[in-house]
Amino acid sequence: MSTLAIDYDDVVAAHRRLEGIAHHTPVLRSATADERTGASLHFKAEHLQRIGAFKFRGGYNAINQFDTRQKAGGVIAFSSGNHAQAIALSARLHGIRAVIVMPEDAPAIKIAATRGYGAEVVLYDRYTQDREALGRELAVAEGLTLIPPFNHPHVMAGQGTAAKELFDDVGELDLLLVPVGGGGLLSGCATVAKARYPRCHVVGVEPEAGNDAQRSLASGEIVSIATPRTIADGAQTQALGSLTFPVLREYVDEIVTVSDGELVNAMSFLAGRMKQFVEPTGCLAAAAALSGQVAIEGRRVGIILSGGNVDLNRFAELIQSAEGNPHEIHR
Ligand SMILES: *Cc1c(COP(=O)(O)O)cnc(C)c1O
Repeated sequence: MSTLAIDYDDVVAAHRRLEGIAHHTPVLRSATADERTGASLHFKAEHLQRIGAFKFRGGYNAINQFDTRQKAGGVIAFSSGNHAQAIALSARLHGIRAVIVMPEDAPAIKIAATRGYGAEVVLYDRYTQDREALGRELAVAEGLTLIPPFNHPHVMAGQGTAAKELFDDVGELDLLLVPVGGGGLLSGCATVAKARYPRCHVVGVEPEAGNDAQRSLASGEIVSIATPRTIADGAQTQALGSLTFPVLREYVDEIVTVSDGELVNAMSFLAGRMKQFVEPTGCLAAAAALSGQVAIEGRRVGIILSGGNVDLNRFAELIQSAEGNPHEIHR
């Protein structure tokens, strides 16, 4: 039956590889959030993962399975975001070379963070240079292995370990809400949910401005869109992957969308009430629950907080625009 890129056993194997290396992140509860929604919310705190996002799980799981030749050559990735740092740190932990290709106008702090993990950063001009061609050339010339941010079985299985830990810690859930960009995180988490608790309703959450995953599942084929304008920069993908899409089709029950305003309100709630610093993309699933985009009353709900990497000034600016009062005391 299985022509899918991963199954539950792959996630279990990934979890074994990550044991003692990735953080087993906590599951956060909030009486205020439960009261407001009438549900029982379980927040999986992947913003507290190494490098500040779940992407360490997939990156490490992929590099850990390199053969001797691949280890000798090193790894290459294209990313200006969390995948870059995930690959850089994972490569360092394995003692191998990492080359990260980033646009030259990427935020200086991201370039610095990636270099800080010991990676070589190659900058390109996103208006005149073709990054794929540049990467391919580098990979061939220098014997580097490319690890993509989501469309890779080892990456997908690694990301699924976040949901495995959540279920290991809290048991059965009625719903699982997961952010979706290219679908690496959601494919891994949905695989786990349906293997462990087939009745768990799995919901992907993407930005309203870029609802390609929703349209793809509705139409039965991968829909590509122009790069969406949203503050959720980790979910500004143009299309699901050829490996992630079939898994989502099999295991995901629903995709919902949230607006940038709803993301900001969720960020503000998480910071003000729960004392958690979560980046806009990391708030997608929480925003769907807190804004009422999904019916959750009376249910046990899992929410993946996927990352926390956002510039402090940018965070402050966004919080300024939130509705409601973030300063009230959390109970
Ligand atoms: C990459 C990323 C996502 C989206 O993950 P996909 O596997 O591409 O769907 C969500 N949140 C954060 C914080 C990310 O870095």
